[in-house]
Amino acid sequence: MDTKNIVVLPGDGVGPEIMQPAVNLLKAIGEVSDTRFSLKEYDFGGKSVDANGSPLSSMALEACKNADAVLLGAVGGPQYDQLPPDIRPEQGLLQLRSELATYCNLRPARLYSGMETVSTLKKQIVEKTDLVVVRELTGGLYFGEPAGIQGEKGQRIATNAMVYSETEIRRIARQAFQLAEVRRGHVTSVDKSDVVEVSGFWRQIVDETAKDYPNVQLRHILMDTAAMKLVSEPSVFDVILTSNMFGDILSDIAATLAGSIGLLPSTSLGEGTPIYEPVHGSAPDIAGQNIVNPIGMLASVAMMFRYSFNQPEVGLCIEEAIGRVLADGFGTADISPKTKVGTMELSEMIIAIVGKRLSDQNASRN
Ligand code: NAD
Repeated sequence: MDTKNIVVLPGDGVGPEIMQPAVNLLKAIGEVSDTRFSLKEYDFGGKSVDANGSPLSSMALEACKNADAVLLGAVGGPQYDQLPPDIRPEQGLLQLRSELATYCNLRPARLYSGMETVSTLKKQIVEKTDLVVVRELTGGLYFGEPAGIQGEKGQRIATNAMVYSETEIRRIARQAFQLAEVRRGHVTSVDKSDVVEVSGFWRQIVDETAKDYPNVQLRHILMDTAAMKLVSEPSVFDVILTSNMFGDILSDIAATLAGSIGLLPSTSLGEGTPIYEPVHGSAPDIAGQNIVNPIGMLASVAMMFRYSFNQPEVGLCIEEAIGRVLADGFGTADISPKTKVGTMELSEMIIAIVGKRLSDQNASRN
């Protein structure tokens, strides 16, 4: 019997509410498959600040390092906004990504059938959306040194440095080209090379790396143009390759195309344990009301089966179950569905379909 060790970090706000469905989904899959899931849960983010004085305890970090995968909800909340920067919940997230060296963040955005009219953008603009943002995750402006505020009040200067090494750019570019090879064969690299030196360097290294991928078509566009194109002609994008901050912004714009930020999954891959989490934050405005959309989290579990467990058929089964309930008109309030249901109800519908399909597949094999 194959056992997968998963560290579960529910985090803050809606984090625990979306993690429960993910855990239920794993239990249901475990009941009908040969894989067992050993789950270990730790406080993370604000909850860990409250309990341990830091957003990521050394015990939680050690467990993450030794796991097969990390499932993460979300961190943060207004009650933590005044904390010193080094112990804010979001710092725990940056530290975790950095410690696990998960430099490659994949954020797919596609339009589920039935979601064509949910986006605030017109149906004819969003209907062919099917793209992946490949975001560099452990470098750039969010990690560069020097960083901080110096000087006397009235004369203070705040600094963040955007720093990228050749190695960092080349390894993320390779991930984007390899992904494009198994998709539609296009990479759009996004930078700000008209004014930022680091971006000019980024463009140069991406061009060099592209030579190893002759079957992939590469084009470069500026960040401002990319933002405009994403909301006016999203179907031109296949794989978007970009740096940490630009990827953060562009993937949230991509969420608008899909209909709701609550639908989008992500994974962060690299040298250490992969992390799976929805792209949204802790949504404190809707926490505790059973209205948060669990689909981004459940689709992140699907990505875990694809990228960490080499079971793409289980990933596909989860994605098809999500597609089916949405096409049948069910959903949480954020996607204005025909039939509005709560977080747990929607999750249970999806989980029931997954359980039934996997057990039918087993029966037909035996
Ligand atoms: P957010 O993503 O939490 O919420 C933005 C908006 O989208 C809110 O109106 C929220 O209600 C809605 N929303 C988000 N997820 C949803 C879902 N699954 N279903 C339905 N609606 C959903 O971003 P924010 O409000 O800017 O940030 C809130 C907190 O989360 C902050 O403390 C921020 O630092 C933190 N944050 C954490 C992460 C993370 O943990 N990866 C990412 C972004 C923001």
